[in-house]
Amino acid sequence: MSKNRQCSFCGRKESSVKMMISGLNQTYICDDCASQAAQIVKENEILLRQQNNVYNKNSVPKPLEIKKFLDQYVIGQDDAKRFLSVAVYNHYKRLMQNVDNDDVEIEKSNIIMVGATGTGKTLLAKTIARKLHVPFAIVDATVLTEAGYVGEDVETILTRLLQVADYDVEAAQRGIVFIDEIDKIARKSDNPSLTRDVSGEGVQQGLLKLLEGSIVQVPPNGGRKHPEQKMIAVDTQNILFICGGAFDGIEKKIAQRLNTQVVGYEASLQTNHIDRDNLLQYIAPQDLKSFGLIPEIIGRLPILTYLKPLGRDALRKILTEPKNSIIRQYTKLFAMDGITLTFDDDTLEYIVDKAIEFKLGARGLRAIVETIMIDSMFEMPSSDNKQFKVGIDYAREKIEKTSEQKLKVA
Ligand code: ADP
Repeated sequence: MSKNRQCSFCGRKESSVKMMISGLNQTYICDDCASQAAQIVKENEILLRQQNNVYNKNSVPKPLEIKKFLDQYVIGQDDAKRFLSVAVYNHYKRLMQNVDNDDVEIEKSNIIMVGATGTGKTLLAKTIARKLHVPFAIVDATVLTEAGYVGEDVETILTRLLQVADYDVEAAQRGIVFIDEIDKIARKSDNPSLTRDVSGEGVQQGLLKLLEGSIVQVPPNGGRKHPEQKMIAVDTQNILFICGGAFDGIEKKIAQRLNTQVVGYEASLQTNHIDRDNLLQYIAPQDLKSFGLIPEIIGRLPILTYLKPLGRDALRKILTEPKNSIIRQYTKLFAMDGITLTFDDDTLEYIVDKAIEFKLGARGLRAIVETIMIDSMFEMPSSDNKQFKVGIDYAREKIEKTSEQKLKVA
């Protein structure tokens, strides 16, 4: 191979570059020029996206459409789905609003979802992200601490969003952030003057800055801010925040409020209608305050919705109905080896029973199915048998072999 080949762009010889890529008719491009060209293409794409303003009215999914999409993946939780669909639709509208010609400014409506762990909060957030054409990041509030403590600065929430947006600041500024486990930064006591839980409240104060919309200096690679690091300024004005948390024990606060709020004969009539098994549906902003969120934060999360605990029926549906349900996933895995996998109805009921018995909820379904299937997944690919029906005796045998503890860890 001749070493005299020259880059057709910068003219350098092959001997002075790392790599030379050849094209038609003796044309070449060196690694340097190729990277530069790639960069130009990327920048141009961003520019085009901004110019075209992807959010023209026709391309924005309507709330009903968003909800239908969510229905394919998430069982039940209708209230939360409706709230989310509307909030996301309005988010798009905000992005399209023309503030200059009109003095009505649509303010953003951040959302907070309350519901026990494993009821589908993250799943809802993730599913909605699939439908949208804005950057979407999921972050966990438990790692956040007040500046000066071990942990991550609140600003790193935006680092995640920047990363997802490929450091396209404009795009990130229109993105959506899901903050999980928001309840973990609650103040431990409702009485700030007595037991000030400094770190929890400090993080809430930090978060407030992001929620209310301001220019925030973000460390591009996360971690702690330090003086030498070059920061990226991100305007959070148009970023939609969706928060989720289990708020363990908040039912007690709701019950207290419902009992004390209403007095007298008429009230006792009213309280009779309360569905005591599902108190979360009555959640109100003051309950979040009793739990330890500061009023400023609550004010910045005006849309409050809840997720229902998943009952037997819901768990049974979760196994088979969602588009990428656990059973469908295993069926596909086996199909890739040419094996037809089926489950007896009894087996499916048994799996649900075990998830309830071990109090594992929806999260446990996968662990249980995995435990039942592991031996066959090991053996079947090398076997001539191309049919496999998972009967209840087989399932029972596999589960009884495994300790409950192991399932819980899984
Ligand atoms: P949360 O964020 O509320 O703790 P997740 O959304 O992470 O719970 O749910 C854990 C898993 O349980 C999900 O990955 C999903 O497989 C299943 N799951 C939970 N709720 C539902 C639901 N309503 N519909 C379908 N699957 C669900």
